[in-house]
Amino acid sequence: MSDNSSSPTKIIAIVGAGFSGALTAVNLLRQNPGDALRIILVDRGTRPGRGLAYGTWDDNFLLNVPAGNMSALADDPGHFVRFCQHIDPAFNSATFASRRLYGDYLELTLRQEAERNRGTSLEKVHGEAIAVRQQPGDNAYQIDLANGRSIRAHQVVLALGHFPPLNPAPIAGLHKTSAYIGNPWDSAALERSYGEAPIALLGMGLTALDVLFRLTSISDTPKIYLVSRHGLFPQPHRFNPKPPAAAGFPPFLENLPPTVRAYSRALRSEIRKNATRGGDWRDIINLLRPYTPQIWRQFPLEERKRFLSRAVAYWDIHRHRLAPSAHLRLSSMIESGQVEAVAGYIQGCVVNGSNLSIKIRERHTGHLRELNISRVVNCTGPNCDISKVTVPLVVQLRDEGYLQQDPTRIGFEVNDDYQVINRQGRPAENLFYIGPMLKARFWEAIAVPELRVHARRLAERLTSDRPEKQEGTAPR
Ligand SMILES: Cc1cc2nc3c(=O)[nH]c(=O)nc-3n(C[C@H](O)[C@H](O)[C@H](O)COP(=O)(O)OP(=O)(O)OC[C@H]3O[C@@H](n4cnc5c(N)ncnc54)[C@H](O)[C@@H]3O)c2cc1C
Repeated sequence: MSDNSSSPTKIIAIVGAGFSGALTAVNLLRQNPGDALRIILVDRGTRPGRGLAYGTWDDNFLLNVPAGNMSALADDPGHFVRFCQHIDPAFNSATFASRRLYGDYLELTLRQEAERNRGTSLEKVHGEAIAVRQQPGDNAYQIDLANGRSIRAHQVVLALGHFPPLNPAPIAGLHKTSAYIGNPWDSAALERSYGEAPIALLGMGLTALDVLFRLTSISDTPKIYLVSRHGLFPQPHRFNPKPPAAAGFPPFLENLPPTVRAYSRALRSEIRKNATRGGDWRDIINLLRPYTPQIWRQFPLEERKRFLSRAVAYWDIHRHRLAPSAHLRLSSMIESGQVEAVAGYIQGCVVNGSNLSIKIRERHTGHLRELNISRVVNCTGPNCDISKVTVPLVVQLRDEGYLQQDPTRIGFEVNDDYQVINRQGRPAENLFYIGPMLKARFWEAIAVPELRVHARRLAERLTSDRPEKQEGTAPR
């Protein structure tokens, strides 16, 4: 069945109703478009706004950004704190609220905007989009869902979130065994591991810590190894973090050659100087945040690649920090011996009946170490290499040339108007992307403080009625 509309109303379909998709809808509604606009939000799930990050029921999982910087609305920084204070007046901008509460907040924000704009139809469609194709003739798009339904829209926004990690080559033999959990966000698979004998998590970043807390919040899992090449955990936020100071472009980065080496040196030197004045390194990292897209753009391709191969592990643990209480929880697990960090390179694995062993070349000693475990969870981080994504919708769009991989292989190629760039290198007409893979263009684009700004700009772009080229840009 096709949902056709012959009215002059513009139809915008947003595929993916997690944070980015829901916030794009919120910003469209805030423009009070009346009946000139119809918004269709498509998602496999049923609770808009929650997505991967905010769908948890467990209040033990905290936001990793203080409440004062988690407003969903770019022009109203106190919006989330006020929501929290309605529940508990003790909340303040330095509180690390739970992700469950944040999901409630996003759902409510969308509902309130929809109620305020009854003239604009907001339709939530449940289902998985498996194909998006431009139609000959009027150049509108047809979105096909796995349940057989199809939707017609004048503009389509892809807000698909993260893709599961790639399977690491050294443990290729494990991929098809029940001892291997390839998707760290597969709650059902994790639940089956509760209480099991030693488990190894591949990765030590925020995804691995999420899985660690999940495995240990319900049951007493005896021992968990966290294995990564660098052996680095995310750094903690301070208790009572200061709101980021509004400052101009950091003077210590002015007039530098656009190289990773020059920027790293300048940053380290400024952190040292600041420490001699009693300052904290976090304040210096925070100064960069509004200017990271500008810096990223100045870097030639080779330097971006150098950053991704040599510096990103160090950048990530300083930039993407943990709530202080989550860090304390991790530290006490390490002290008690329940958790052990292993820095090294996986050499291979052997399956022995229901158990397995992985061999690791330790980073600092070069010794070969063998871990005997019952399960491995792949927490190496979302796959951003579009050429390797196996999700049906992305496969169709990629194979039919509607979108392409960026040259650093960390996301979709888009322009400043959020239009995806097609195989011919042209902006695809009326096909847009928003989400963490904007990092290919802006680098700093995966968390709420940036995505809320992108959602607002995208909504403005969608309704700007800028003339589009009339010839079809559907690639052939
Ligand atoms: C565990 C976790 C914790 C985080 N914590 C924080 C935090 O504390 N602070 C912060 O600032 N940032 C945090 N982030 C960063 C996070 O990336 C963003 O906050 C935001 O959630 C990204 O939103 P998104 O809409 O792009 O993806 P998601 O919110 O994951 O939404 C994607 C949606 O698309 C749907 N979808 C995908 N494909 C299809 C399809 N083909 N058809 C139909 N529906 C589809 C999915 O069902 C999902 O609902 C966290 C991220 C994760 C993963």
